[in-house]
Amino acid sequence: MSTPIYMDNNATTRVAPEVLEAMLPYFSDYYGNPSSMHRFGGASGRVVREAREQLADLLGAQPDEIVFTSCGTESDSTAIYAALAAHPGKRHLITTRVEHPAIKSLYEHLGKTGYRITAVPVDNAGRLDEDYLVENLSDDTAVVSIMWANNETGVIFPVERLAETVTARGAVFHTDAVQAVGKIPINLSQNRIDMLSLSGHKLHGPKGIGALYVRKGTKFAPFLIGGHQEHGRRGGTENVAGIVGLGRAAQFTKAHMTDEANSVKALRDRLEAGLLERIPAATVNGDRENRLPNTTSIGFDSVEGEAILLMMDELAICASSGSACTSGSLEPSHVLRAMGVPYTSAHGSIRFSLSVYNTQEEVDFVVEKLPPIIERLRQLSPFWKADAACHRTA
Ligand code: PLP
Repeated sequence: MSTPIYMDNNATTRVAPEVLEAMLPYFSDYYGNPSSMHRFGGASGRVVREAREQLADLLGAQPDEIVFTSCGTESDSTAIYAALAAHPGKRHLITTRVEHPAIKSLYEHLGKTGYRITAVPVDNAGRLDEDYLVENLSDDTAVVSIMWANNETGVIFPVERLAETVTARGAVFHTDAVQAVGKIPINLSQNRIDMLSLSGHKLHGPKGIGALYVRKGTKFAPFLIGGHQEHGRRGGTENVAGIVGLGRAAQFTKAHMTDEANSVKALRDRLEAGLLERIPAATVNGDRENRLPNTTSIGFDSVEGEAILLMMDELAICASSGSACTSGSLEPSHVLRAMGVPYTSAHGSIRFSLSVYNTQEEVDFVVEKLPPIIERLRQLSPFWKADAACHRTA
């Protein structure tokens, strides 16, 4: 197969053709600044309003509860700093041990500036210890940030239930829903979530555009201080083409989500079943019931994830590993470590994340080609030959 088999959609997604088509005129013909009084400005302002409505519709929100940002990371930072500004006297923050770096690193930074941080543990299926969270809530807690769905395992957290408990104690509840939006139904009119982050490039929209939902009545302070854009909630000239793309992606997602989730889930399940059947000592990381329909993280014992990725890449199969290879340390990811996944399996963990653009033919190709790769790598692995009892654990 010459065209790449792209199974790394939790990293980023292909821009849908209809999204690209909707965006193009806003690079060429309609380049006005939405703040300008003339007709060019007016045309841009109208499409920004329309996109706000489309996104609000996907989320069950009001259009004026949407603040456009540049990405999921900016939305996360904006939410946490806004919550801290709303509660200047409070010094305690809660999150989980399995957040994306957009929250994890921010919390670590805040921990160094004098805030007390509680990171709620998960069990070996990646499920949150809700009792631990509740026991640690106090009058000093300013904000609780819990991701809706995990980017590595796809495990879904009960954020709607948790938002009830947290807001009843007077803390702000934020969720990083970057992986959840577009993959599972979300209706913010039916829960108590104060703020929610999302990112365009995870739902077949473009990169460089994100949004923060801010529930009406939530105290807010802008993160980017500047002009009056976004009703004074985010300074900076609007990324009009990106906003149009996010709006169109939201509209497309809303119309097709159920069918797509079912078809993508069927492909994910076929891939997972095929690999588990053909490859010994392979384990799915995380709760298999309560997770995103497109994601599977599989640990192949006693092989290096990076080696698997390189060999798959030679066959044009694109996925990602559960090692923090970007840090140069080859340490297993903090998510798999928090779950207590054995070291030799965490090291050989691969995340496959599918989309509507995948086909059964692609899945079958991967199921055929991966087993011999694992077999070959295991022949070279000292761990595979060693007694299982010698395997270190994380
Ligand atoms: N949060 C989660 C759960 C993510 O998966 C990602 C991206 O992978 C982000 C935040 C960051 O989003 P962005 O790349 O738009 O900044």
